[in-house]
Amino acid sequence: MSTDRPQARRRIGVMGGTFDPIHNGHLVAASEVAHRFSLHEVIFVPTGRPWQKLGEDEGSGPEDVDQPRSVGQRDSVDPRSEDDQRSKEVSPAEDRYLMTVIATASNPRFSVSRVDIDREGNTYTVDTLRDLNATLPDAELFFITGADALESILSWQNWEELFELANFIGVSRPGYELNASHLSQHLQDLPPETLQMLEIPALAISSTECRARAAHGRPVWYLVPDGVVQYIAKRRLYRPLRSNSARVS
Ligand code: ATP
Ligand code: MG
Repeated sequence: MSTDRPQARRRIGVMGGTFDPIHNGHLVAASEVAHRFSLHEVIFVPTGRPWQKLGEDEGSGPEDVDQPRSVGQRDSVDPRSEDDQRSKEVSPAEDRYLMTVIATASNPRFSVSRVDIDREGNTYTVDTLRDLNATLPDAELFFITGADALESILSWQNWEELFELANFIGVSRPGYELNASHLSQHLQDLPPETLQMLEIPALAISSTECRARAAHGRPVWYLVPDGVVQYIAKRRLYRPLRSNSARVS
């Protein structure tokens, strides 16, 4: 039998997120997509350099469009309430990266990329996918995104190119509709394999809720992996602003 038959392209999932902190909803989404789409590997990609994260209702202008991958910066003179202010900030990239490594270390099919945190400038998904395609030329990429992020995908930078760089898998998330008929006509007109929907076990967990819990001394056990609970405590992440104002320099 011939041994020079072309190898099938490696099927690689890409799970992008702020991961502040990574939680079991992210891990279940990646695991379920890996199983259902026979992926060889899922690469988790924490977002990069902090920049001003604007609320959904505030987004405007080309610099702010890629909302799901954007992150914010501590602003110690912001007059808003602490909870509101905390929801607009992001922890240092190294903390988010390390929590993602800790959370994924036990799964041989999961890995973590620094591609976004090592790139200068704001994080846009199109750059993530360009860079991963360049380093993994033989791979077929499957970008995994929750139903909430999917709703805004047409506002991401260079959204048409996104679908040339990867297949997209939209996964269900409690509180959001995962129904192609709710998406814009542009998305509905894509070839079927380019954007697929997958119902996954419903975990009503968000990083926002985990941060609020940690800030108020409520448990995050079993919402995030044990090692991440311990890392949050060790690094005193998400504590009220006045007690950790030296956290970000
Ligand atoms: P935050 O509350 O800070 O926005 P998050 O919980 O939404 O955090 P992100 O890092 O913003 O987490 O999300 C990364 C990706 O994971 C997004 O595509 C998001 O839709 C998806 N995701 C997050 N939580 C869940 C969940 N519980 N179920 C399914 N998908 C999820
Ligand atoms: Mg989010």
